[in-house]
Amino acid sequence: MIPYVDLKAQYLSIKEEIDAAIAEVLESCQFVLGEKVEAFETDFADYCQTRYALGVNSGTSALHLALLAAGVKPGDEVITVSYTFVASVAAIRYTGARPVLVDIDPRCGTMDPARLEAAITPRTKAIMPVHLYGACADMDAILEISHRHDLTVVEDAAQAHGAEYKGTRAGSIGNLACFSFYPGKNLGAYGEGGAVVTNDAEYAKIIRRLRDHGQSQKNYHDAVGYNYRMEGMQGAVLGVKLRHLDDWNRTRRKHAADYRRALADTGVCLLEEMPYTRSVNHIFPVFTPQRDKLVEHLKARGVSTGIHYPIPVHLQLGYRDLGYNLGDFPHTEQACDEVLSLPMYAELSTAEVTEVSDLIREFGFQARECDA
Ligand SMILES: *Cc1c(COP(=O)(O)O)cnc(C)c1O
Repeated sequence: MIPYVDLKAQYLSIKEEIDAAIAEVLESCQFVLGEKVEAFETDFADYCQTRYALGVNSGTSALHLALLAAGVKPGDEVITVSYTFVASVAAIRYTGARPVLVDIDPRCGTMDPARLEAAITPRTKAIMPVHLYGACADMDAILEISHRHDLTVVEDAAQAHGAEYKGTRAGSIGNLACFSFYPGKNLGAYGEGGAVVTNDAEYAKIIRRLRDHGQSQKNYHDAVGYNYRMEGMQGAVLGVKLRHLDDWNRTRRKHAADYRRALADTGVCLLEEMPYTRSVNHIFPVFTPQRDKLVEHLKARGVSTGIHYPIPVHLQLGYRDLGYNLGDFPHTEQACDEVLSLPMYAELSTAEVTEVSDLIREFGFQARECDA
């Protein structure tokens, strides 16, 4: 059996450190925010090459607060992609702003800057590129457009802890950036968690308040905020795991390189790693029109896979009122129809990568032109 992810294997590899850190939280009884969260915020800001990191209770909350800090409000528009986890778009809706969706560059799966430019209106307030699967979006092109139109850029870096764009860390490129620490992410809590990072002191101040019911000092609530606080236990776990993240990301990159070599000329298509980014391979996707058959083929041989994501956001029931239709974003729709996520985690062995790749070769795809 080769699982899609193996959280247990990772826990066992760092059990002593984790258990000790959790015991400290229990002893201190700092269950919400507190020292462990503060220490993690300092370390994570360093890691992301930003001045501030604010711990919150999920990646979705991080996106919501980042947009609020950027001043996004009802009547505004925020541009993002439909080829993402639904939370990117949900967070925009929470603010009352309208999500404006654009298609992806099919070579790399991230926001197509040319489509972005075409989607800007006088109501556009912010742009939310998603660093999908662990690879950064085309940030220079996106920043150039944002500067020209005076827009705020909020990076959705929920899948990109430690990824690089031209040598700088994901999260340090836009005005604000959001991370998720959902357990299966490259840096995962033992429960829910998220963070906003930024270099802007004013944004940091707003977010620090909003995550804690708008509280500026004890019992003074200067705004209607939220209960989006990070738990002490999650701060402790994340502080331990952050020390291992670069090692784990390095191993993911090795597995990705091995997959690429082994899957060349097997008939499945792969995304390009664009020259401007260094991916942390949160997900390793392959693309084939015979996706559902390949799922069954692998499952019958003991290999679990995932699909990220089978239905684009613009075709989800809950988002029908945005007024989009089938056919609006052809590259996104084709990717959703064909994508399959292979097992990818640091504890995966090289032999297992080879085994999965051999099973895909054995499936016997027709040779296929991949350049879209
Ligand atoms: C996981 C994820 C989120 C949401 O994070 P949660 O912690 O699950 O709320 C947002 N955007 C993307 C791209 C994600 O992968």
